[in-house]
Amino acid sequence: MKFGIVVCPKCKHPKGVQLVHKTTRCIRCGKMLTLAKLKILYQTDSEEQLRRALGLVNADMEGKRKDFEELLRSQHKTCR
Ligand SMILES: [Zn+2]
Repeated sequence: MKFGIVVCPKCKHPKGVQLVHKTTRCIRCGKMLTLAKLKILYQTDSEEQLRRALGLVNADMEGKRKDFEELLRSQHKTCR
């Protein structure tokens, strides 16, 4: 998996990251995040999927969790 989504523990801002990197900086609050210490919410090899998932994580913040879970389910299907 090349890409992942993490959430900043300080300001709760979701962020897409390249998993080859060990750290990333939160674009909202500027905090340096260590990927090994964070929960990876979503992982994918496709940058397009990452952007789609990131959009849904953002939507989740507005109470649209179902859409995100749907995406995770469809992801499992394509993996099979
Ligand atoms: Zn932050």
